[in-house]
Amino acid sequence: MATGECNCGAVAFEVTTKVSDVFICHCSICQRSTGGNGKIVVVVNNTDFQWLRGKELVNTWHKPEHDWQTSFCQTCGSALPGINDEARMYIPAGLITGGGDNLKVAHHIWVDSKATWDEISDKGKQHQQAFEP
Ligand SMILES: [Zn+2]
Ligand SMILES: [Zn+2]
Repeated sequence: MATGECNCGAVAFEVTTKVSDVFICHCSICQRSTGGNGKIVVVVNNTDFQWLRGKELVNTWHKPEHDWQTSFCQTCGSALPGINDEARMYIPAGLITGGGDNLKVAHHIWVDSKATWDEISDKGKQHQQAFEP
C-alpha cells in the first residue's frame, strides 16, 4: 500500500500492493524530461493502481516517433504516474509520500546514455541499454 500526490495536491493516487524496486532510466529523453539524471520510477500492475482525485488534470505527452511518453499535472507540472506497458503503470518514486519505506534502487537502465556528471553509487544492477530481467 502506497499513496502519493503532486505538488499542488490536485492529483492523488494509491497503490494497493507493496512497493520496493526502484528503476532509474538514464536515457537522454528522461534527462531532458526531468532536468536531472533521468526518470526514477516504480512499476506496478494496472490492477494495483487507482487515481484518488484529479485524473482529469493528468496531461500526457508522447514523443513523436518513439514509444516514450510522460504524464504531468496540468496545474503544477509535477511528474505523474503513466502507462509503462499494457499491463503496468510506472510511478515517479519521488511522488510517493506514504508506504515507501522499503523503496530501494534495484535497476539502472540505459546507463550507456547517462550524463557525464551522473555517478552511480548505489548497488542497483546496471543495464547498459533497456531492462533485461
Ligand atoms: Zn499538481
Ligand atoms: Zn528513459
